[in-house]
Amino acid sequence: MDTAEIRRRFLAHFEAAGHAVVPSASLLADDPNLLFVPAGMVPFKPYFLGQETPPYVRATSIQKCVRTPDIEDVGKTTRHGTFFEMCGNFSFGDYFKQGAVELAWDLITKPIADGGYGLDRDRLYPSVLVGDDEAIEHWMHVTGFPRERIVQLGPRENYWSMGVPGPGGPCSEILYDRGPEFGPDFDPATLGPDMPVELEDRLLEIWNLVFMQDELSAVRSKSDFDISGSLPKKNIDTGMGLDRVALLLQGKANMYEIDVVYPVIAKAQEMTGKTYGADHDDDVRFRVVADHVRSSMMLIGDGVTPGNDGRGYVLRRLLRRAVRSMRLLGCEDRVLPELMPVSRDVMGQTYDNLLTDWPRISQVAFAEEDAFRKTLQAGTQIFDQAASEVKQTGGATLSGERAFALHDTYGFPIDLTLEMAAEQGLTVDEQGFRGLMAEQRERAKADARAKKGTHGDTAVYRGIYDAHGPTEWLAYETLETESR
Ligand code: ATP
Ligand code: MG
Ligand code: MG
Ligand code: MG
Repeated sequence: MDTAEIRRRFLAHFEAAGHAVVPSASLLADDPNLLFVPAGMVPFKPYFLGQETPPYVRATSIQKCVRTPDIEDVGKTTRHGTFFEMCGNFSFGDYFKQGAVELAWDLITKPIADGGYGLDRDRLYPSVLVGDDEAIEHWMHVTGFPRERIVQLGPRENYWSMGVPGPGGPCSEILYDRGPEFGPDFDPATLGPDMPVELEDRLLEIWNLVFMQDELSAVRSKSDFDISGSLPKKNIDTGMGLDRVALLLQGKANMYEIDVVYPVIAKAQEMTGKTYGADHDDDVRFRVVADHVRSSMMLIGDGVTPGNDGRGYVLRRLLRRAVRSMRLLGCEDRVLPELMPVSRDVMGQTYDNLLTDWPRISQVAFAEEDAFRKTLQAGTQIFDQAASEVKQTGGATLSGERAFALHDTYGFPIDLTLEMAAEQGLTVDEQGFRGLMAEQRERAKADARAKKGTHGDTAVYRGIYDAHGPTEWLAYETLETESR
């Protein structure tokens, strides 16, 4: 089933059940503490917080999402994209656990001929928060499964909050067993309370149902919080990963091979002459290319331009990482003019701004690649010089200062320095480099504080970040160290 049809069926299912269909909001969250929208509930947050009255009690949407913290996983797990789409249904004080469970189960198990996704119920494992008997009862009733078949997971997986006092509640993640080639055998009755890491790709999480029911007076961590009461109005917030359901329904091994992502890999094979599937490290690079070309295109489409901090920095890193990954695959030509139109053609079927705004989008992307190519050109000379100096003096290690200078002056990513050093039989004093980076960051922070004179007020909405992972961009260096 192609992604467009999965999308269509999702909205049709919930519309038929009385939900208002709400279009995706921009990736640029209207929120001082979110770089990008990481989840479908974000545009509905004022309703959930009781700050505004929703014009409907049930809504459904397919929201564009970007999760920068997941970048390290891209291409390595089977299921994490920096960009993905989250299908959601929301109840504002209307139906609660039972309705959410019934609606989700119905859609995923209904035969394909009847408008559902036709997933094999024997492979599906609902999970609940340990001890959430109410949810267990609903799942047993809806599925006909015995109690031991319902997985009980701890708050790390199955409790949602915004990281600050306010609403919170147990979750119910729906897992799909992809079989022994993706991980060891397991017993659902004894699986929890934490999901074993080696099972995460086998027991693919496809849908998270959040039962917003608690009033929290304190939140110290994902698993340490105080429930002070019940919310006057109980809400439902769910998120189903469109790309993850697509990989199942398209019989693919991972989300980078689905219909709206794989064409970029196919193009990259053509351009590099390498074959996807032949070498693990190359495969990761192919997937990174496909993911990053798509996410950077979507970000530019929503108005982000490359820059040195914040959103612009994320975009810059995504674009550069795509270009660099293509180099590591052996293609030194300009790559975005070839790759991005391929992604545009598949994603443009849903997001027609990609087509109508293409002249601007492509100009922003291609100009950034050209600037990066210049950087590479300049830095490569300096690097070669440094490397030959090290060799001439009988050394084997490029100093942290050299690596830092390459980074600071020529914008040369550390992983490129590492990679090129390795090619010449050299190592890099990475720790020294990191130390200098940290010092520089401290200086920048001190400068910013001196300029501003006050601390920014980050308390209010930082919860979404906490709930969905750190959203401030922490990856100034981590972004650069991934594909080694
Ligand atoms: P995981 O544990 O696999 O990282 P999650 O618990 O962080 O997922 P949620 O915050 O519950 O994910 O988001 C709801 C749904 O969105 C998930 O069940 C999944 O289907 C999808 N999803 C989350 N993160 C990603 C991602 N990086 N790429 C693709 N789909 C995702
Ligand atoms: Mg996650
Ligand atoms: Mg999870
Ligand atoms: Mg989840």
